[in-house]
Amino acid sequence: MKEDIIEKYPFLRRGLIQYFGEGISLKEFLEENEYYIHKSADLLYSIINGEDAPFPINGEERVKSYIITKIILTYIRDYFTSARYAIRERNALYDNLEREQDPRTLKSIAHELNVDIEREEEKFLIPISSFLKNAVVFNDKELKLCNQELRNGYVVASKHVLSKIIREAFYRKYMQEVNEVVEFPAEVDSLLKPYVSEVISRGREIRQERANLGPLNEKSFPPCLAEIIDQMKKGANVSHAGRFFLVTFLHRIGLPNDEILKYFGEVPDFAEKITKYQIEHITGTGRGREYSVPSCQTLGSLGLCYKERDPLCSSGKISHPLSFYRIRNLGDRRVGKSSPVNRVDKSHDTKE
Ligand code: SF4
Repeated sequence: MKEDIIEKYPFLRRGLIQYFGEGISLKEFLEENEYYIHKSADLLYSIINGEDAPFPINGEERVKSYIITKIILTYIRDYFTSARYAIRERNALYDNLEREQDPRTLKSIAHELNVDIEREEEKFLIPISSFLKNAVVFNDKELKLCNQELRNGYVVASKHVLSKIIREAFYRKYMQEVNEVVEFPAEVDSLLKPYVSEVISRGREIRQERANLGPLNEKSFPPCLAEIIDQMKKGANVSHAGRFFLVTFLHRIGLPNDEILKYFGEVPDFAEKITKYQIEHITGTGRGREYSVPSCQTLGSLGLCYKERDPLCSSGKISHPLSFYRIRNLGDRRVGKSSPVNRVDKSHDTKE
């Protein structure tokens, strides 16, 4: 198989066979590639922290790291961690599909992801059942069935639409596979455990932080956010940084994109389509990654902090707007305060 195809599509069976080898056990493979276990665990740690860590570019490294990351995620079986990684792979795949010039490659990739397509001149015929199974992206008008040309049980799709369907088929398949229950032999368990315990702990911490924000309560919003919302209600032109902060914050406390959009209704330059796109980009529900909420330090440097308006902020104890929200919403039950996460001993709890 051509090296550049393998680099671009590391999940293809032929590449996996080429680099996994034949007649080799999982334990032997991992022992031979311990270097990649270390690299993949580092990559996962960065990704779950929202960092833009790049995938390896060399073919062998890319495929081996892909295989080992998948083994690690299957071992961890943590939905949050696997979703973060799968979104990165999905987006990388989509970028490559959009640039792909060879329709035969598109066809074989689709086939491996259980989407059996036919080519018709510049278009592709996708069975309606496959289309519907994979066209479930939130808010994507291009994937709505009512916007497709239908013929004899097929969707007549452009390469662009096909790329989106393949992208989603990859994501669904990947998430299904890494979240299946797999019993790992004891020797594999002891090989992986030291490398992945940090990833498991960090994944758990993030989920705990998310679960600890409490129900939506605007009264608990920090002064910096309240000021932005107030300005928007008055029809003032809020800066890009202010809007970015608003979206990341509202997303992080659990508001769906449609609800976030409502906050923008009063801004003078409101354009629904563009705003929707920007929200999807910032929250990672479109093609973007999920951005973090800026810290108080960042907001201060942007002139968006109003700490003098609230005693909790002016006490100097708040370093992040989400901490303010959590404390006001739930009282001071910060994660790790009363029950610190044990980074090693509890590393397997997430396999439940
Ligand atoms: S201290 Fe932090 S939470 Fe409080 S207003 Fe400033 S940026 Fe917002």
